[in-house]
Amino acid sequence: MDYDVTVIGAGIHGAGVAQAAAAAGHRVLVLEQYERPARGSSSRSSKLIHGGLRYLESGQFGLVRECLRERALLLRNAPHLVRLLPFCIPVYRHTRRRPWKIGLGLWLYRLLGGGPFRRHGADPADELLDGLRREALDALFCYADAQTDDARLTEAVLASAGELGAEVRLGARFESAQLGQEGCTLVFRGGDATSRLTTRVLVNAAGPWANRVLATITPAQRPQPVELVQGTHIRVPGRLQRVYYLEAPQDGRAVFVMPWRDAVLIGTTETPYQGDPAAVRPLEREIDYLLAVHNQYFEQRLTRDDVQDAFAGLRVLPAGDGHAFSRPRETLLVTDRRRRPRLVTLYGGKLTAYRATAETLMRKLRASLPRRRPVADTRRLPLPQRPPGR
Ligand SMILES: Cc1cc2nc3c(=O)[nH]c(=O)nc-3n(C[C@H](O)[C@H](O)[C@H](O)COP(=O)(O)OP(=O)(O)OC[C@H]3O[C@@H](n4cnc5c(N)ncnc54)[C@H](O)[C@@H]3O)c2cc1C
Repeated sequence: MDYDVTVIGAGIHGAGVAQAAAAAGHRVLVLEQYERPARGSSSRSSKLIHGGLRYLESGQFGLVRECLRERALLLRNAPHLVRLLPFCIPVYRHTRRRPWKIGLGLWLYRLLGGGPFRRHGADPADELLDGLRREALDALFCYADAQTDDARLTEAVLASAGELGAEVRLGARFESAQLGQEGCTLVFRGGDATSRLTTRVLVNAAGPWANRVLATITPAQRPQPVELVQGTHIRVPGRLQRVYYLEAPQDGRAVFVMPWRDAVLIGTTETPYQGDPAAVRPLEREIDYLLAVHNQYFEQRLTRDDVQDAFAGLRVLPAGDGHAFSRPRETLLVTDRRRRPRLVTLYGGKLTAYRATAETLMRKLRASLPRRRPVADTRRLPLPQRPPGR
């Protein structure tokens, strides 16, 4: 066999699996169709390393606890990439979630590892409001959560995998695979050449492309019923000291207004998407929706002319009837159902929990891989300061 583990996709999950597999001592290859890593969802997220306070509303306590644990590890292992920021949630007379509910949520968040919070009354200090309207304010809740640069984080995890011995081929598009009893034969295309190699196991970490990748594998695999849901962010001028966690007046969804480099990022939306994942683009109505949320809460009125940039990414969520907002965000790991699986497909997940997800995935593959001597423990492994090319 040429490799123990071959990973399709250099988003955060592919990078995380490569790091975990290389740390466990395996021979690892990553194939990425683009010339750079993190060109899919992993550069178009809200860039938060957080437990996800709002997931408490839909009872996803396990996910929140796991993400908060991972947040703590990232703050220790990658302080150059992940930083704590003050977050504030204003509650107005007209917002649906009342102060008692936000207080209860933050109390639970703290219990799960999120840290302390503070409740201010209807007349907080100016610096806490950063331009938010004061009229009809009932209370302001403040706590701490973390922000990262998602693309740089992905590059750093991939560089860490490389330092542990993983090989990474960029501009290499996976085309097909044949699964056998002892391993897989796969075909990929890099430049003008088509190549073939053998691997003991194949990890499909192709994000929104996962079911497209699955369709090229023999014997045929049953795809999971998932939906792609696009999320758009806009960048506008301004300077903020805090992240504001707002309730969209249109539908009660949570929208973040946050400092981002020298500007402000506002997001996100949830719009069902069909079609080629590479073709996802922000929609006009999503941009209008985000501007309307901002203008509802801030004194300063923004127009379309203020939008410096907009980008959209795709979530992979379990198919269902309800609104995307309340669908589970847990990662789904699906194998080819053998006693010793040769294929794992990863659906959904959170940037924050990539390391824990990769560990769980490697446990699923234990019976399919030879015993090797581990070379590192990813819980204690600092991420490189300067990924290559930066
Ligand atoms: C709008 C939005 C906001 C989010 N906000 C947050 C947040 O604030 N915090 C958080 O924790 N999580 C957040 N998430 C979730 C998180 O961003 C995603 O779960 C994560 O980035 C998915 O990473 P991935 O590696 O699975 O997929 P991707 O990053 O999409 O990577 C898949 C990779 O596979 C490659 N690929 C596909 N097909 C092939 C092929 N045939 N051959 C080779 N390569 C291939 C693609 O080019 C791509 O690089 C958000 C998601 C979205 C969409």
